[in-house]
Amino acid sequence: MKWSKMLIQTLRENPGDAEIDSHKLLVRAGLVKKVAGGLYAYLPLGMRALKKVQQIVREEMDSTGAQEIVMPILQPAELWKTSGRWDLMGPNMFRLKDRAEHEAALGPTAEEEVTDVVKSIVSSYRQLPVTVYQIQWKFRDETRPRFGLMRSKEFLMKDAYSFDTDADGADKSYWTMYHAYERIFARCGLKAVPVQADGGDMGDSLTHEFHVLADAGEDGIAWCEKCGYAANLETAVAHVECDAAGEVCHAEIENAPTPAKTIEEMVKFFGVPATKMVKTLVYVADGKPVMFCVRGDRELNEVKAKHLAGAKVFALADFATVREVTGAPIGYAGPVRPQADVPIYADIELKGATGMITGGNLAGEIDLKNVSFERDCKIAAYADISIVQDGDKCAKCGGTLAIKRGIEVGQVFKLGTKYSDAFKAVYKTADLGENTIVMGCYGVGVSRTVQAIIEQSHDKDGIIWPAAVAPFAVVVDLLDPADAAVAKVAEDIERALEDANIDVIVDDREERPGVKFKDADLIGFPVRIVVGAKGLANGGVEIKRRCDSKDKTQIVAPGEAVERVKNLLAG
Ligand code: ATP
Ligand code: MG
Repeated sequence: MKWSKMLIQTLRENPGDAEIDSHKLLVRAGLVKKVAGGLYAYLPLGMRALKKVQQIVREEMDSTGAQEIVMPILQPAELWKTSGRWDLMGPNMFRLKDRAEHEAALGPTAEEEVTDVVKSIVSSYRQLPVTVYQIQWKFRDETRPRFGLMRSKEFLMKDAYSFDTDADGADKSYWTMYHAYERIFARCGLKAVPVQADGGDMGDSLTHEFHVLADAGEDGIAWCEKCGYAANLETAVAHVECDAAGEVCHAEIENAPTPAKTIEEMVKFFGVPATKMVKTLVYVADGKPVMFCVRGDRELNEVKAKHLAGAKVFALADFATVREVTGAPIGYAGPVRPQADVPIYADIELKGATGMITGGNLAGEIDLKNVSFERDCKIAAYADISIVQDGDKCAKCGGTLAIKRGIEVGQVFKLGTKYSDAFKAVYKTADLGENTIVMGCYGVGVSRTVQAIIEQSHDKDGIIWPAAVAPFAVVVDLLDPADAAVAKVAEDIERALEDANIDVIVDDREERPGVKFKDADLIGFPVRIVVGAKGLANGGVEIKRRCDSKDKTQIVAPGEAVERVKNLLAG
């Protein structure tokens, strides 16, 4: 392939909306072009990388026996109403109507659709287990589309779904996919770690996310160096000591008027540490107000809180509700005698805590001192509802937890019978009884993976593609395109590489060498061959890996170039 014939545009300037390196490089290297916020066109170079990742995913899926299908992006509303997710998906789902006023959605995922398809075909245990997958565009009206392909409104996902006769079979399918994911990301040149995660509204059974650790990651991950425990902060647990807050205090509750609203202000005002304060938050769980308390130095974990409240729809209460529940101005909510009789849940760390400072639930800017949880508060339940922090103790081994950032590139889920129940996906057993199919679902963010590779593998000059997913494995920088003899050498190398199934682009543009080298580094082809009149006169062509320093450049005779490239790519 000749550079001059390809639709390539490299840019010197970073795009104005790019916050992270991979987003900047993606655009500057001419892999994608922004069409609108969260919407991108894949240019030829970007398309080649995307297709390579797709192909790895496809091969690994096929190797497990999963079968490729493709289903419509446009999904009838009835499917979503059957599962109850038409309402639950909220504004994240793109909705539309056809000319006959039939409601539909642009698929953000496809559990409903696939269950409907498979149950119409499978009727007997003899047809199970079966796993199907598709590589299909997905649509989500994200609150904050950003970071290029990382969080876009339209993205390419591989979604697989397993159908088994029982829980044991589903378990086997789950781990088969888990191991396939390990192979997929390794072949993409990615270090991706499996972490325990929250089932969300997909069911609440076993699930792992695969994360690429990077500062730019949107997810927090609790990580124990000692035992390898890794969990998304949404579900991560730490070893807690109850009443770690300190000594027993028998003093009576005291009103403490204070202008301080935030924990920071309170620490200054009272001159005591945040561990002696209580943060109280009011939420609305399925329409009913609920209160949650965590220690002042902690944050409430909304996922854990939502599960504890057993809620489907869960959000922070508005100011009016907070005032109604507490009877106090904003910033003065507490667990002692709220105005309304609402359930109060407290973090396990507060069990037995004494001498605490809390909001007053009084008509004024008043806090309370000397609060003892057992004595003064009516707590519905104590449970782990706080976010794990850096330095907390590992619940498994007592080691120290560190908080890292991760980019979620894939997730495997056990769904149980959530969707098969809703869609009555049943099969006839060997003894002519009837049973419900047990399901699992498995997603890879194919387009996000392309960018995660860049985020994990780049330097100040540009991308450093792992060979397996590079748009081209080799760039031949032809320095004197007008010199027929030199051009012929480049042409021969190009043909020989293609014969060896190594994809190559020849930079035949009438440009200065410096421009060519800069572009090659920016796009990040794994191997560069420089073919020029001067070099040839001195004995050959220059070969160098993108990640090697200049002094590692090798000079070889043109006829040896292909062998050398093979060695470098294998290394
Ligand atoms: P996130 O927590 O990042 O919003 P998710 O858990 O909602 O993702 P899944 O439903 O698990 O996403 O989808 C499977 C995969 O699709 C994810 O692991 C991720 O790699 C990818 N993905 C999800 N949302 C987006 C998006 N808006 N843009 C690009 N890729 C996405
Ligand atoms: Mg996920």
